[in-house]
Amino acid sequence: MGASVTISDLPIRKRLHNQKPYTAPQLTAPVRLNVNESPFPPSQKLIDDISSSVRSALDSLHRYPDREAFALRSELAHYVTAQSGVDVGLENILAANGSLESLQQIMQVFGGPDRSALSFAPSYAMYKIIATTAETEWLDGGRRTDLTLDIDHAVAVISAVRPDIIFLTNPHNPSGQTLATADLERILEAAPAVVVVDEAYSEFSLSPSAINLIDRFPAKLIITRTMSKALAFAGGRLGYVVAAPAVIAAMRLVRLPYHLSTVTQAAALAALRHADDTLSQVSELIRERTRVAVILRDMGFEVIDSDANFFLFGRFADTARSWQHYLDHGVLIRDLGIPHYLRVTVGQVAENNRFLEVSEKLSALATGGTDRGCFHDRTRASSVPIAHTQ
Ligand SMILES: *Cc1c(COP(=O)(O)O)cnc(C)c1O
Repeated sequence: MGASVTISDLPIRKRLHNQKPYTAPQLTAPVRLNVNESPFPPSQKLIDDISSSVRSALDSLHRYPDREAFALRSELAHYVTAQSGVDVGLENILAANGSLESLQQIMQVFGGPDRSALSFAPSYAMYKIIATTAETEWLDGGRRTDLTLDIDHAVAVISAVRPDIIFLTNPHNPSGQTLATADLERILEAAPAVVVVDEAYSEFSLSPSAINLIDRFPAKLIITRTMSKALAFAGGRLGYVVAAPAVIAAMRLVRLPYHLSTVTQAAALAALRHADDTLSQVSELIRERTRVAVILRDMGFEVIDSDANFFLFGRFADTARSWQHYLDHGVLIRDLGIPHYLRVTVGQVAENNRFLEVSEKLSALATGGTDRGCFHDRTRASSVPIAHTQ
């Protein structure tokens, strides 16, 4: 029905012409290590708690949910206080359906026509999509060839283009690298307006959270976080902002009333009650991250050190073919279009072992002569540029 028109027949906004939607392939491979989810399904205890919490909440399903999500924001504030050591209150928190909704709300408040957003690519693909759909000019400051951020360069770019929003991810996606606090402070000092620090992977890193800096930069610093990764709640859709109360007040101007359903609030509260158990899996993932990286390096791969639950590895002469090789052997990883590198999420031990087996096959192929150079590219020095975005 209605198939006679295509998107180009529609009177859509000019900025949306030829845009591509976010597409990480959702394929049903036996081993899925592509979108940085937790590999641990919820425990029976957690499933039972979520079920009974949601069941009790259903009594009032004919009513709108708590519009301000008081109980949930208060529990998130406790969680963040325990995580960061900083005294965070519910007036510092705004919850949303995933941190992507938070990012979109930030863009609605601080971006828009005549405004610009700056990031340092390669970075998380959604920043650009959210900026573009909000009619915000997109600027890319680039990274060094080893994917680290050149702070002197970043500060110079910020002073030159004076962006309305700066996006940083810490630890960074896709490299997994952490930005030092001193470097973040330099960016905050140089920034003319808002700096968003996306801490989606904060629980995997030993470095301090930027929450420590809110008191020094209350009008500039906005932190986004999520229950999708370390808290293993990706399907529940719960993210949040941590910022000064004035920033939260500004974001309430754009958030839709009742956006967090009664079911979402009840389920997220139950998941937070089990946060300690869930976080104990994080230590296991960190151990696995180290183990897998060491074995990959022994096989001759290059691995970029990561503080998150994933890492980039290479070098591949042909990332698309190598990605397909993994998939053909039942392992779904991620090709982000970064030359020579693929990204893999750390999974459970058996999944990681399968990933390593397939990696070993690839390594043998590259040295075995049949397909030399097509996969594992040993002929290139590690100083070869992998990104030319500056
Ligand atoms: C996974 C991820 C998110 C999470 O988004 P949710 O909407 O909270 O699931 C946000 N930012 C980055 C950089 C991510 O990698």
